[in-house]
Amino acid sequence: GYQRVLEENRKLYNQVQDLKGNIRVYCRVRPLVPGQSHTSVDHIDERTISILTHSKYGKEAKKSFTFNKIFGPSVTQAEVFSDTQPLIRSVLDGYNVCIFAYGQTGSGKTHTMTGPKELTEEGLGVNYRALADLFHLSKERKETISYEISVQMLEIYNEQVKDLLSADEIRNSSLNGINVPDANLVRVSSPSDVINLMDLGHKNRSVCSTALNDRSSRSHSCLTVHVQGKDLTSGNILRGSMHLVDLAGSERVDKSEVTGDRLKEAQHINKSLSALGDVISSLASRSSHVPYRNSKLTQLLQDSLGGQAKTLMFVHIAPEYEALGETLSTLKFAERVATVELGAAKVNKDSGEVKELKEQIASLKAALARKE
Ligand code: ADP
Ligand code: MG
Repeated sequence: GYQRVLEENRKLYNQVQDLKGNIRVYCRVRPLVPGQSHTSVDHIDERTISILTHSKYGKEAKKSFTFNKIFGPSVTQAEVFSDTQPLIRSVLDGYNVCIFAYGQTGSGKTHTMTGPKELTEEGLGVNYRALADLFHLSKERKETISYEISVQMLEIYNEQVKDLLSADEIRNSSLNGINVPDANLVRVSSPSDVINLMDLGHKNRSVCSTALNDRSSRSHSCLTVHVQGKDLTSGNILRGSMHLVDLAGSERVDKSEVTGDRLKEAQHINKSLSALGDVISSLASRSSHVPYRNSKLTQLLQDSLGGQAKTLMFVHIAPEYEALGETLSTLKFAERVATVELGAAKVNKDSGEVKELKEQIASLKAALARKE
């Protein structure tokens, strides 16, 4: 009766969401660093950001970009999280979710995902909040579903995958979608477990870098959360996963200025970020071929990109005028991966199928209301 109607309602809602595309792009603008005053950001509203550019003749020109959401410099970590929470919660319903932080080095990727260096309660980033929320919600549901939550931490550097929770290099052959069998998968049951593991991961990562060689900006790091839920009445098992990815800095490296290792790193980053862009944009445009095999990053995430999976890209903007070139290329990248449905003109133009599903939802809602 009641339960079934609820279930049907949710299924239909998910289908509508699915038809509308599961790729979201949020843009976050970092505050200006003290001492900087000249900014390239002209205006921000809820969905549009406009950037001051220069025309050929030195005249100021503006260029606007529209995304699902824009977070201005004063938006707090808690506010960013609250707009991300529904997506994160869907992991407990058996969805696969990928959240990426994209942007040039220094634009705030790590701030969003992990938080500032000196972590405070308010400073906690999406990673910590997501896990704390999953624990919280799984406790709320414990009478009906019993959940197990485990995490992995991986780093991809120069197309090599490394397990940040152990000292070993992972063999390439073991890369098969969300499961990387050789990598440690650690059961967690409280936020403090997660904090300890992330500390370990960060330590293992920094072993490979020196002050001058900040590897963290030139590798991708990925916190993967695996959820298994057992329905206590039916015995059915559902599985969900979430990848939280702090990407390598997207800045273009001047090839004439770097050589050796630095050039090799730059080429690997370039290759994997454009592979990611290609995969997401072909998913967004519903192309029949999705080129997952072009990089380790997209191979690793293959099962969680496309299909029923939900993707969120946080694109980060450094607001200072000196960063204008990178800002524009970041926004162009973001525009390329944003769904076609994003365009303001298309918002109200549902396909026949969406319309039909919406009508069914409305009638189910009415049925539900009558039952109450
Ligand atoms: P990235 O990881 O992209 O290289 P970081 O996250 O390390 O950049 O950010 C660079 C600096 O700017 C850090 O000191 C960080 O704490 C600060 N910062 C970034 N975003 C914000 C923000 N939204 N509010 C306050 N400080 C920020
Ligand atoms: Mg960083």
